[in-house]
Amino acid sequence: MLAVRVEVPRTVRLVKAELLADRCEEEIIMETPRVYDIRNNADAVRFGLSPTEPTQNSNGVPARDFLLSRCILGRHGAQPRFIVLHIQEGSTPGSLDHWVAGRVQGRDGQWHEVQASSTVMVQRDGSILRVIPEEHGPWTNGRVQRPTWQSAQLRALSGVGSPNLHCLTIEAEGLPNDEMPEPEFRAVLWQVRDWMNRYDIPVDNILPHSSIDSVDRPHCPGAYYHRVMVALAGYREPSPPPPFDGQPKTTNGVVFHPFKRQVTSNGVNQRLWASPTAPLTGPLIPAGEQIEAVYWIKGDEVDGNDIWLVKDSGPRIWSGGVKEAVP
Ligand SMILES: [Zn+2]
Repeated sequence: MLAVRVEVPRTVRLVKAELLADRCEEEIIMETPRVYDIRNNADAVRFGLSPTEPTQNSNGVPARDFLLSRCILGRHGAQPRFIVLHIQEGSTPGSLDHWVAGRVQGRDGQWHEVQASSTVMVQRDGSILRVIPEEHGPWTNGRVQRPTWQSAQLRALSGVGSPNLHCLTIEAEGLPNDEMPEPEFRAVLWQVRDWMNRYDIPVDNILPHSSIDSVDRPHCPGAYYHRVMVALAGYREPSPPPPFDGQPKTTNGVVFHPFKRQVTSNGVNQRLWASPTAPLTGPLIPAGEQIEAVYWIKGDEVDGNDIWLVKDSGPRIWSGGVKEAVP
């Protein structure tokens, strides 16, 4: 294994400089993970993809070569501009088998072979498996269904075409709510930084699958997306509110008034402190989503309203962005 310096694009460095003023700049030196590639016969076999034997769906084509054809060849001339993160809800050999041998029943009642692939897969042991070469569009993002604001730029770019044309994708082993093992997380981060660097992709263009399909994939990729964004300094970690016992609490001159209830987002940001210019702590909370509030506090005024909610996990949310009256 080699220690390499990964150059981070300028946009990321600027965000880091602005947001990390009170922290030590992280040394951006990471070990290159072990990288496999299904185009190598031994690597294909290692992950259960036969370079010689067909599957029941592959029309006599060997499983590995069949999978290599499951993509948009040449991206129809497009370039990768976005990185979309996914979770397999399983392990790589099982996912690969499903992609080459699986069938799903369509709305027409007919059985169709599974149409799925990915640029890379990342394993719990911290290894990366290259599947669809980067010059081709992987079949990973599926249908666009009730997408969120986060994928607006991608959708504007795609128009009536497939978002897959413009995306590099990661399918990580595990389940949405699992704590991702450290080697796997570092491999994901390494791959994201490598792509940001080589394709000049800004941090805002790293998307969760749920931003493209919030109907069938609301939990893809799950918890590790936030960790990746924090590590890239796109989001900040909020500090938790004072312990709740039903009484008002004063911390650093701010009075935390008890307000323990669920409120409904109108599509609102979550921030590090009670100001519209404070750093974001996560993606916009989509309209209709429930928010667990514990306190309200006074902060900066927005539209004549200076009441902010404090989420149980710490982020501040402007009360004008929720349905219910506060306090
Ligand atoms: Zn997904």
